[in-house]
Amino acid sequence: MAKTIITAGIDIGSTASKVVILADQKMISQYIGPSTVNPSKMSRLVYQEALNAAGISMDMVDYIVGTGYGRGKVDFANENVSEISCHAKGAHLLLPTTRTIIDMGGQDTKVISIDKHGLIIEFAMNDKCAAGTGRFLDFMARSMGLEIKDMVRLHFEEGTPSVISNMCSVFAESEVINLINEEVPLPCIVKGLHLSIANKVSTLARRAGLTKDVVITGGVAKNRGVVDSLENILKFKALVFPEEIDPQLIGAVGAAALAFERVLKK
Ligand code: ADP
Repeated sequence: MAKTIITAGIDIGSTASKVVILADQKMISQYIGPSTVNPSKMSRLVYQEALNAAGISMDMVDYIVGTGYGRGKVDFANENVSEISCHAKGAHLLLPTTRTIIDMGGQDTKVISIDKHGLIIEFAMNDKCAAGTGRFLDFMARSMGLEIKDMVRLHFEEGTPSVISNMCSVFAESEVINLINEEVPLPCIVKGLHLSIANKVSTLARRAGLTKDVVITGGVAKNRGVVDSLENILKFKALVFPEEIDPQLIGAVGAAALAFERVLKK
């Protein structure tokens, strides 16, 4: 019997550090930790957590691919690959009918078009400012004394979305504070914020073309409020990953899947 190929994908993002371990392309372990000012140390830490969860040691792993903003700091990886390639690979592996990936992370949003083989056709990216990203939402939640999960709950309560005209975090925060002072109900403000993010992302998505099936990856994909707003604006339903797959892990899944291909080619 052929030996099981064990591979790891380590995605060191601007906000979160993610690890996925695959055995013959099946997930045996996953871990999400924060990103810190020391990505090199953090990558070792989260990798060790994922190894512990899988009950395996480092020497049992055949190949490691690092990805994400801090991929250069994963110095024990065999190779590092851009997160665009990894998101494309991960989405194609898990949902092969995917043609457009909207990756909403902590620091930027990317829209990636792929063909039926999972090859990248084109991509568009917004990384100029926090507008339209997870960080914008994290910042707004903190300003309102809320957690992201409260924002998601409030989104589905009664209320008309407030108009938030500024996308710059600093100005948007002043608008939000004014709305709170005017006693505008929180669900209205939260819906307004989600809508402003969705508007920003939808412009990018239209620019990159929006061929079906569309999937949403990255941590913000777990924010039902943002996804709901985006689906309403773009008039589509995103394809949903299997329940056991966290959309924040798609980059790490893709990295581990690429690592598997590298082993096969050796
Ligand atoms: P990066 O790769 O840039 O670190 P991620 O794809 O890991 O970014 O996404 C981080 C963002 O995901 C955070 O800014 C946060 O807003 C969002 N996020 C993380 N977990 C959740 C959750 N359970 N619900 C809603 N949003 C979430």
